Amino acid sequence: MAKSKYEYVKNFETEKKLLPNCWIVVRIDGRAFHQFSTKHKFKKPNDENALALMNRAASVVMDEFKDILLSYGQSDEYSFVIRKDTTLYNRRGPKIMTYINSLFSTSYVYYWSHYFKETRLKYPPAFDARIILYPTDENLRDYLSWRQADCHINNLYNTTFWALVLKGGLTNTEAEKRLCGTLSSDKNEILFSEFNTNYNNEPIMYRKGTILIRKRIKNPEHGKMRQVILPLHEDMIQDNFWQKHSEILAI
Ligand code: ATP
Ligand code: ATP
Ligand code: MG
Ligand code: MG
Ligand code: MG
Ligand code: MG
Repeated sequence: MAKSKYEYVKNFETEKKLLPNCWIVVRIDGRAFHQFSTKHKFKKPNDENALALMNRAASVVMDEFKDILLSYGQSDEYSFVIRKDTTLYNRRGPKIMTYINSLFSTSYVYYWSHYFKETRLKYPPAFDARIILYPTDENLRDYLSWRQADCHINNLYNTTFWALVLKGGLTNTEAEKRLCGTLSSDKNEILFSEFNTNYNNEPIMYRKGTILIRKRIKNPEHGKMRQVILPLHEDMIQDNFWQKHSEILAI
């Protein structure tokens, strides 16, 4: 096609390739989901269907982008870890980030009604995205540990907060005040002594979030190997997880 005289504006695009040999992480996070979750009557502190929908949307993304080795989700966020040596879109960062974010967002809407049979989607939800490079395995592990520790801290807080409100009859403000300045041990104690709840017995998906990894399994019918996306609710902070799934960092 002949070039127009306007073509020169293309030169203003100054996209650089992502640094080679680094782990690439894309994290998406729901915009104003505190409000979104209220408007759509999410069960507090944890709506199981909302989490399942997040996991479903992340699976669609992993199905499409085979260079994603592992994903980790909690609350309204998901992190996607892309292999260090990927040549996806010639390592153009914005392209990778926006495709992942866009496919996640549309999948969230596309599958909404499968998970929320009673609640109509009231307005289009949005997600932000960022892309981060981690040069070492240690950095990557620390990133994932950071997100999983965040899940734990928030979940313990939310579980105690909503116990005080829903079972203890406190107002939101009163519960907030009660928890101000408390340590993890205090929250565990409130749950145990006032609500007969052992935090460690709360569902593991709420406490640890969801890890999606790829595994090759044998189909029992014809014995052929095939790849599946497997959801796990394990502790990624300990070495044990990385020893058990040593193929992830070996890449
Ligand atoms: P921002 O736009 O800055 O991200 P936000 O309101 O989304 O604002 P977050 O820190 O991302 O703030 O927190 C997400 C909020 O969404 C949680 O605090 C919680 O209230 C709600 N939420 C997300 N997932 C669930 C769920 N499965 N069940 C119940 N509430 C949820
Ligand atoms: P890429 O992923 O690289 O963008 P693409 O197939 O989307 O690949 P584009 O150069 O963006 O390639 O072209 C979009 C194509 O979508 C058009 O060539 C045309 O075939 C089709 N298309 C888009 N909008 C319409 C429309 N309104 N009616 C008919 N065809 C359309
Ligand atoms: Mg935020
Ligand atoms: Mg959010
Ligand atoms: Mg969030
Ligand atoms: Mg196009």
